[in-house]
Amino acid sequence: MSESSLPWYKEGLKFKCTECGKCCTGSSGYVWLTLDEMQEMANVLELPLDLFKRKYIRQKGNRFALIEKRALNGDYDCIFLEDKKCKVYQSRPLQCRTFPWWPENLRCEESWKSAGLECEGINDGAPTVSYDHIQEQLEKQTKA
Ligand code: SF4
Ligand code: SF4
Repeated sequence: MSESSLPWYKEGLKFKCTECGKCCTGSSGYVWLTLDEMQEMANVLELPLDLFKRKYIRQKGNRFALIEKRALNGDYDCIFLEDKKCKVYQSRPLQCRTFPWWPENLRCEESWKSAGLECEGINDGAPTVSYDHIQEQLEKQTKA
């Protein structure tokens, strides 16, 4: 790819997760996951898959997503969010692993800035994440 056809973030982007937990709560949404991801999480929690699904999964059409729980402040927390930490961090789904490198956040500079309104890790004081790393994260999502 020639230099001029590289995306707008070709010099990398400023980001470092502060572990504030905000991307695991807020307005209602979907954390989608595949059967393999559900199986992996079930293994980590030492639960049979059918019990794991009954406890933690909702189905929408032919897709699966994690259940949400209503927080006292009215927010919708991911079922695995506890004290601002992910209880299944090592086996969290690809959707969580690749945040904030989602296509919709990288569409243009404005989209990135708007993601930064929700995620405090996106800020000018954070270290630069390389273009190659960002592309790697994007590719993981297209291969999923
Ligand atoms: S909102 Fe951003 S900084 Fe906070 S936990 Fe999520 S990725 Fe990290
Ligand atoms: S699985 Fe973990 S990282 Fe993903 S939304 Fe839930 S609490 Fe957050």
